[in-house]
Amino acid sequence: MAVGDVSRGVFVHPLASEIVERIRPIWGIEHALSLMGWDGRTYMPRGGVEERAIARAELLVLRRRLLLNPETVKLVENAEEAVDDMNEFERGLVRVLKRNIRIESSLPDELVYERAKVTEEAVAVWENAKSSGNFAAFKPYLERIVELARKMAEHLGYEEHPYDALLDLFEEGLTTKKVEALFNSIMPTLKLTLEKVRASGYYPERHPLEDVEYQVPVMDKVNREVLSLIGFPWERGRLDVSAHPFTISLGIGDVRITTRYEGVDFRHTLYAVIHEFGHALYELQIDEALKATPLASGVSLGVHESQSRFWENIVGRSPAFVEAVSPLLRKHLGFLEGYSDEELYRYFNIVRPGPIRVEADELTYNFHIYLRFKIEKELIEGSLKVDEVPEAWNSLMEELLGVRPKNYKEGVLQDIHWSSGAIGYFPTYTIGTVLAAQILYRYESVKGGFYDSVRSRDFAPIREYLRESIHRWGSTFKPEELIEKGLGEPMNPEYYNRYIMRKFLEVKLP
Ligand code: MG
Repeated sequence: MAVGDVSRGVFVHPLASEIVERIRPIWGIEHALSLMGWDGRTYMPRGGVEERAIARAELLVLRRRLLLNPETVKLVENAEEAVDDMNEFERGLVRVLKRNIRIESSLPDELVYERAKVTEEAVAVWENAKSSGNFAAFKPYLERIVELARKMAEHLGYEEHPYDALLDLFEEGLTTKKVEALFNSIMPTLKLTLEKVRASGYYPERHPLEDVEYQVPVMDKVNREVLSLIGFPWERGRLDVSAHPFTISLGIGDVRITTRYEGVDFRHTLYAVIHEFGHALYELQIDEALKATPLASGVSLGVHESQSRFWENIVGRSPAFVEAVSPLLRKHLGFLEGYSDEELYRYFNIVRPGPIRVEADELTYNFHIYLRFKIEKELIEGSLKVDEVPEAWNSLMEELLGVRPKNYKEGVLQDIHWSSGAIGYFPTYTIGTVLAAQILYRYESVKGGFYDSVRSRDFAPIREYLRESIHRWGSTFKPEELIEKGLGEPMNPEYYNRYIMRKFLEVKLP
């Protein structure tokens, strides 16, 4: 079957089908960039770094040029006038392209190139600064990056707050006001629940299994069996090893995930795999008719993260999942002898306020995001200077979680995001955790028996529900529209509050 035939049934309007054909080279470039990105983070020899960076920069320029080609822009403009005669996929295609063209064309070439150059260097500088805990080395880069982000916001435009322009890049339609409202809804519940949980002691702050070492080949086997259990299609995906776990989609038929092996405290690698599975499943279950078009990817980072958190937390850290997976774990991990399912559940759900975001548990995670949101917003509006960030970070961490980072490595230097220019990204993690809980409640009200399915290792109805309500649409609808359509109402943080209180305050034993 020719490539063009795949989406023929969906993109039937002449302007839409012309667009799909015309921009397919852009998809081809993105496919190549994804493969290069995967390779760069998994198997590429160190010697390849410099040339890969050149190749990547060239392809990005080419992609931008193709997108901003006047004939392409004109075609999209014409299509926009015809959207009333188009189906939802065609309208989605026009929306996505119009948005991409707006973003790319509002940023001048010099700004794009300077940002690419500064962030490329900054990531390398940040890596060294982090390992030595030296903020002063990273400071000039962060200053440049914040300045460039503020310039970007001015070029992109916004209605109320310059940070809105940056948030929108990662989550279409997100604003500072919406993020503030979101945190206002969830922080009181999190604070109260955290206090009660720490007072009760059922969820431990430390567990002996944290110190137990595992053999990497054995754990790799466990991870693969868990993936098979929850339904990872091996003929359409891979599991590899990288420094930081990630998911990358080359297309609907090839989605790759990674994990890492630290050799101790096996829950980290196991839950990284379950998390990435959630991201992968989203990409794998997009409607085949959208293949090789701009609609064939998850719609936003927040919705994407809702899928990974759903599998990691809502499914993976539940008593029912522990029951479902424990025979498999016991078969391979001899050191689990003497630990009951309940002990395993407690180990998987350690609650311990700490300084590091990626080590945070379900209860403390959003405190880390709130801190970053507050600092980013103030940096972009200019009420906080880069100089003042390390101290602001440490004080806020102490105020929120009662822990003060011992050094900048476990404080302001811990995340890669800022060095890569990603300011406005963090709030999407909170959107993800909140939506994940909402999906659970929606599933329960529409279908019911969620945890019975999990307990009986019957994950197909869950995958099918996610496919039907969210995955199959790809980027067809704006995030807010997709949520309303798929979950029957807009994002509602009250489901998350309910989930948190039910899980942590009404403990049900496995
Ligand atoms: Mg993720």
